[in-house]
Amino acid sequence: MHINDLPAELLNHILFLATKANSEEGESFTYGLSQAPLPLEKAKLTKYIRGPLSAESLRWDATASIRQTCGRWHDWALSYNLEHIFERCWKGSERWAELTLDRSRYKYYELIPTPSGYAVYRDPYGSLKHTDRLFKTVPSTSTNVRRLWFNGFYTAETDKLILSVIANCDRIQTLSVPWTILRRGTADDWVDLLNVNTGHGTPLESLELQATGLSREQAAALENDDSPCPLDFAKVDFSALKRLKIFGNTMHKPICDSDLRAIARTATNLKCLDITNLSTVSVAGMLALVKASHDTLQVLEHSPRSDDGFYHPYPGNLETGEHICELLASLPEMRDLSISVPNMCGALFANHEVKWVGECQVRTTDLCSCKTSTSATIRAEKLREAFDSARDLIRARRRMEHHLSIEIFFAGCIFEPAKKLVHGDFALAEISSNGRWPMHKQSSTKGPYGASGVYEKEEGYWDVVSEEDYLYAVDRNWIAL
Ligand SMILES: [Zn+2]
Repeated sequence: MHINDLPAELLNHILFLATKANSEEGESFTYGLSQAPLPLEKAKLTKYIRGPLSAESLRWDATASIRQTCGRWHDWALSYNLEHIFERCWKGSERWAELTLDRSRYKYYELIPTPSGYAVYRDPYGSLKHTDRLFKTVPSTSTNVRRLWFNGFYTAETDKLILSVIANCDRIQTLSVPWTILRRGTADDWVDLLNVNTGHGTPLESLELQATGLSREQAAALENDDSPCPLDFAKVDFSALKRLKIFGNTMHKPICDSDLRAIARTATNLKCLDITNLSTVSVAGMLALVKASHDTLQVLEHSPRSDDGFYHPYPGNLETGEHICELLASLPEMRDLSISVPNMCGALFANHEVKWVGECQVRTTDLCSCKTSTSATIRAEKLREAFDSARDLIRARRRMEHHLSIEIFFAGCIFEPAKKLVHGDFALAEISSNGRWPMHKQSSTKGPYGASGVYEKEEGYWDVVSEEDYLYAVDRNWIAL
């Protein structure tokens, strides 16, 4: 029997195993010189250093022999190589003159005693242009693409190229693009991108928008762009999207609450919502999406970045004054929760029918229905209620054989209700109590970074005290809430 007569899944598996074996045997490193000499400069290059090959190059090399065997194997290899495409902006211009492009011949390069190289210009968008050209001239190749990832491209020219690549790939499931695509793309571009009810290909399931600071020229070009917002058009439909991630801060036409409200009009089937490390989206924008996907949402991560320092992520305020705790506790499919909210209370943990598992983190600025005039005693009482409620929920989940841990970040401390412990810097409280407090303390393994998720703060040492001790100190105003 000929190997190609095997059932497709068997043959595919054999080719996959062969590819794995090839990639273990093939070259995994490439060469660079110790310094990049400029043209006409005579620099002595006696040393070369090695760096790892990119994952894409490794995959490509591993299927080289398979691609040459027959048409069917060639098709399999293309689908393997083009399934995930990662495009980065090219930085640096050096090229090593004697280094062969055929990586299997690297061993001969090793024999050259005096390697040489030149710094030559390379188009930073060259790879992106090449990808676009390939999919335009050989459209059959683009049908293999399931995941596209673009990073480092923020100009009008690259936005066009990215949208052109996306338009050619109508079977992508996962897409990661710069947020500028949302600012410069047209409604038709976005219909193509989301690909809902277009009659060809499959709809997009996972979308990631990354933002970052821009150089002055790039920022000015973006600010001066007056394209209408594609989200204002009804035909831009997010209803097939399962995962939405918005990541990174920028000053230039950032993603804001009004964008999320516009997306929420159609984003009714999200399973995963992740809004991380940006200060331009508040809890109101997040809640618009949470309400839209109320029945499907399983994972919610909202950890914004404060405008005024990192210590506590500022979640913004809700104008409507609605009770967020009840809304979050009512999400029927929610499993994985990590949120920053303006206020919380025991109601967040009151629904024992929830499906929460693993680590649940809640970062809050205040407690529900507390004003600035609310006394420390009432705050301490509400805090105690919240801890009891959290413990009840953890027990209820354990009865269903699910492990749930809850951490609450509030007033510069980390609370672990299950262990009845509080982690924080209690130096001031010790002074206020004239050294009478705390009764017992230990050094904490958690640090201030726990409050913000950012590690660059100067990290003091934290102590851990019992919950009772902590609330006792609050009652006596040694600790201010
Ligand atoms: Zn509440």
